[in-house]
Amino acid sequence: MDIAVIGSNMVDLISYIEKMPKEGETLEAPDFEIGCGGKGANQAVAAAKLGADVMMVTKVGDDLFADNTIQNLEKYGIDTEFTVKVPGTSSGVAPIFVDPDSKNRILIIKGANQHLAPEDVAAAAEKLKQCSLIVLQLEVPLPTVYRAIEFGNEHHIPVILNPAPASKELDFEYVCKSDFFIPNESELEILTDMPVESDEQIQAAAMTLIDRGLKNVIVTMGSRGVMWVTKEDVQSVASHTVKALDTTGAGDAFIGCFAHYYVKSRDVLEAMKKATAFAALSVTKRGTQTSYPTVEEVEAFLQ
Ligand code: ATP
Repeated sequence: MDIAVIGSNMVDLISYIEKMPKEGETLEAPDFEIGCGGKGANQAVAAAKLGADVMMVTKVGDDLFADNTIQNLEKYGIDTEFTVKVPGTSSGVAPIFVDPDSKNRILIIKGANQHLAPEDVAAAAEKLKQCSLIVLQLEVPLPTVYRAIEFGNEHHIPVILNPAPASKELDFEYVCKSDFFIPNESELEILTDMPVESDEQIQAAAMTLIDRGLKNVIVTMGSRGVMWVTKEDVQSVASHTVKALDTTGAGDAFIGCFAHYYVKSRDVLEAMKKATAFAALSVTKRGTQTSYPTVEEVEAFLQ
């Protein structure tokens, strides 16, 4: 097993609307789509699409979305032995309303994701021990994230922590034990209370996280690229210029691809370059997981 993603899955329920109904009003909307998402699942799918052996420790409800989510993960070859159904609970869902100007309104109901507990890390321990990398986000309870970081440390498995969505309650005693901390600009701003308008400001904010004990901070900056900050050095990779159609899930694309190439090469800069190409290609297509390219498409793009 190359990568263990311990985290969330969600089902996106996307209504394409002409306008939002007012209180008490019922309106027809022109279109509807169901998509598989959730930061954990997106990152797992991104890595698996590139050929990584990925397992996912996650929880689904006991509703009609559960089997669909499991089948979707398995379609990409992801190991779902520790994708567990929670009786009497809904799956994680995200009703999304997209208006004619492509503006979104999104609700997130975490459902079964809230039941992913530290004990679930213990239950998967034998398989997790065989992984080369653990990938975490913050759509599941923080004690589970902390246990997973400790598990990685105990078994000398590097840990990527994507602090998304940003939480002010993050305990840096645990966070500092992760090997790669990968926020986007707005998460960095929330976590540090510092401005992140310019590259200099981003570097200064990331450096305060290094001062708090983090080893590697990698900040994704949308179309401006990505910056890797350590105590000794700062290195950046520019974004590719592409026609962006839908940037949803670009951060997850970056992290899943980075994880795959880091496991393969242990070369951080190389993994950042590949992930920058992978994420750029993902924004040229609509959708989240369905917009992630294959390894052949990434290699062709980088020729
Ligand atoms: P999201 O929340 O939409 O999943 P994010 O805010 O977490 O994304 P970003 O920093 O926006 O993550 O994007 C991640 C990476 O994707 C960037 O570092 C960059 O490599 C690539 N990327 C994002 N937007 C663009 C774009 N418009 N053009 C090219 N590359 C992009």
